Formats: sequence, structure tokens, C-alpha cells
Amino acid sequence: MDINKIRQDFPILNQQIYGHPLVYLDNAATTQKPQCVLDSIIRFYTTYNSNIHRGVHYLSEKATEIYEQARQKVMQFINAKSRTEIVFTKGSTEAINTLAFSFGQAYITPGDEIIISEMEHHSNIVPWQLMAGRRGAKINVLPFDNNGELVEGALERLINERTKIVCVTYVSNTLGTVNDIEKIIKTAHAHNIPVLVDAAQAIQHIKIDVQKLDCDFLALSGHKIYAETGIGVLYGKEKYLEEMPPYQGGGDMIKNVSFELTTWADLPLKFEAGTSNFVGAGSLLTALEYVDTIGLDNIAAHEKQLLEYATEKVDQIGGITVYGRAKNKVSVLSFNIEGAHNYDVGMILDKLGIAVRTGQHCTEPIMKHFGIPGTVRASFAMYNTFEEIDKLAAGIERAKKMLVC
Ligand code: PMP
Repeated sequence: MDINKIRQDFPILNQQIYGHPLVYLDNAATTQKPQCVLDSIIRFYTTYNSNIHRGVHYLSEKATEIYEQARQKVMQFINAKSRTEIVFTKGSTEAINTLAFSFGQAYITPGDEIIISEMEHHSNIVPWQLMAGRRGAKINVLPFDNNGELVEGALERLINERTKIVCVTYVSNTLGTVNDIEKIIKTAHAHNIPVLVDAAQAIQHIKIDVQKLDCDFLALSGHKIYAETGIGVLYGKEKYLEEMPPYQGGGDMIKNVSFELTTWADLPLKFEAGTSNFVGAGSLLTALEYVDTIGLDNIAAHEKQLLEYATEKVDQIGGITVYGRAKNKVSVLSFNIEGAHNYDVGMILDKLGIAVRTGQHCTEPIMKHFGIPGTVRASFAMYNTFEEIDKLAAGIERAKKMLVC
């Protein structure tokens, strides 16, 4: 993998921030876009722009073709059985809200239980709380230990005859933990309980095969894997998508509408009400093709080295607490300088041109677990370099000198 060549594909990286070359280490929040993705957006608007699925004219057919090619590409990328299992959403959040609503309507009755983990992003907590409130259900929480690993055997202990679904993130956006999702799915399936995998932080780092995993649902966001914002996917096994009612009503999701009886469109359109982000879908197609040309395995190997190098460097500084020491981790390094506030560290790094995220990272329960207000989070992507990690480490040392007496 030629990192210098890859970096040239990402025009945003080639700039100075406060007189320093940009070091972009906020990839878990969103990834930068390669030129081919930017070109695909311009090409769409300058060549094909027209609403999908509704027109007989050339442009509409062309736009529809690209939208459906994108669906086909996602299907291949995660190895789904059929294109009918790929629902486009605006992101992981909308995917999970769609599932929580529709699954709740179809299968949840008062007294039923849902299991989510303690390390979930708010977007895999709040939709389930909303649904639980509507349906009279209860949420049980799968705990993690101080290394940031889900507690062995806890799932088995939480499952009972009222458990209706298990919802777990593949990779924690705050701790970097890669959960043993295969084992979680096997355990839940042994009790005939379906599983949602939140793959927002996994899709860009780990090869996902939904048939091999045998997960029932999976959520992902395009902007985390080098595509545009506002496009994401809900994968669902066909039998569930067939049984569940739609989440939103409107155009495109209906077969026939009358005041007496309205019927739903076939899958996957039943879950795609209104004008979809077809340009975003086109950008996702290009982004996934781009990732394929580089190879997810190569990307993962590089990111693993970056994470190991960064962890070593940060440990060498001393006086730094790292949150998340799971054996299996990817791409995320959360830490605090002991005696300094995460915002102050983030501000100092920013002035050195280093973009990291600070705060709770939409995971308040993780902060509560560790009894802290937030962390500094550096997160890596295919275009990051070892020199950038050196700059991060030097920046942390400088912040420590300035902030800790
Ligand atoms: N789950 C996880 C683990 C995430 O990291 C994120 C984004 N930070 C989401 C869900 C939500 O993704 P989006 O905001 O793209 O909908």
C-alpha cells in the first residue's frame, strides 16, 4: 500500500491549519473523501441528475440505474443474499431507528425485553428506549469490563424467554473494541433471538460477510467509509423485512394508495419512503469500488500498525490513561492526560494542526463507567502515517507540559 499515493487521492489532506500541515485523526467521526468520490458527485449533478424510480425519461432511468447499481455493490460488499435485503437510509442512525420502530411494531409486546450493550453509541440506545416506551418493553444492558471488553457469559445470563432482540456494536467508536460478534450471534440464535450489528465503525476496517456472520440486521453509514454524508444502509434478512411494517410513509414505498386501503411496495422500497439520497448512493458505489481497489485487508493491516504504534508512543509519555485495552481493537485510541481536561488537550492539538475529537463521543454510558467527563480520541484511516502519529505524540507531550503542573 503506497500511502503517499493514497494521500494524493484526498485533496483535503493537502492543507495547512494554523501554519501546520493538517493531521486528520478524527476518522471515527467522519472520513475524508477521495477525488473519485467527489468527481462522482459532480458527474451525477452535471450529467444524470433526475429523480429516481419515477420517470420514463433517459436521465431518470440513468439515475435509477446508478442508485440500483449502488445497492448491488453494497450487497456484494457485505455478501447479502439478495438486493431486497439492502435498504438505503440516511445513515446508521436512521437504519437503527427504522429497525427499532418496525421491529417493535411487529414483534414487541408489553413486558418483552431488549438487550443492548453498555458500550453502544447513543444511536443504538435511544431508538430502543423510544420503542420500549411505546411498546412497554424493558431494556437490559450487557456490561463491559475495565479493558473495554464485554463481560464473558453476561449475555447468556441476561437472555430469558422475554428477550426479543440483541443489539450490539461490532466496533466501539470510543474504545476501539472489536466485539466477538460471531459468538454473540451464536448465543442469541441458540435461543432464537435475532441480532442487530451496528457496523458504523466496522465496515471501513473489517471485511463483513452477513451470511457468514448470520446476523439478522446490520447498520452502516456511508460517510464513515469515504462516501458522502446522508447515505447509509439497513441490512435485514428478508423474512424479517417482509414481516415488519414500514417505518415511514410517502412516495416510493407504496404499491397502491386509496383512502380505503394502501398497500406497500415490494422490498426494499417498502422502507424507502420519499426521495432517497440517490446522489449519495452513487458516491457510496464509488467509495466502495475505491476501497476494493486498495483492499480492505491492506487497509486493516496498515491501521493496525498505526494503532499499535500510537498506543506504544502514548504509553511511553507517561501520565496518560488509555481507555480501551481490549485484545482485539481497531483504529481508535481514547485517552486523557492525567490532571488535564480533554477539551484543553484537544484545543492545544488543534493549534498544532492536529484534528482529534474530545468529549463523550455520543457514548455517555462509557464515560459513566469510567467516571470521567470525556476523552481525547484519535482515530485512524488508510491515509494516516507514522509521522502523523509522531506529531500527535509530540503534541500530547507539549499539552502535558502546558496543562499539568
Ligand atoms: N454507531 C456508531 C458505533 C457510531 O460510531 C456512529 C457514528 N459516530 C453511529 C452509530 C451513528 O452514525 P451516523 O451518525 O452516521 O448515523
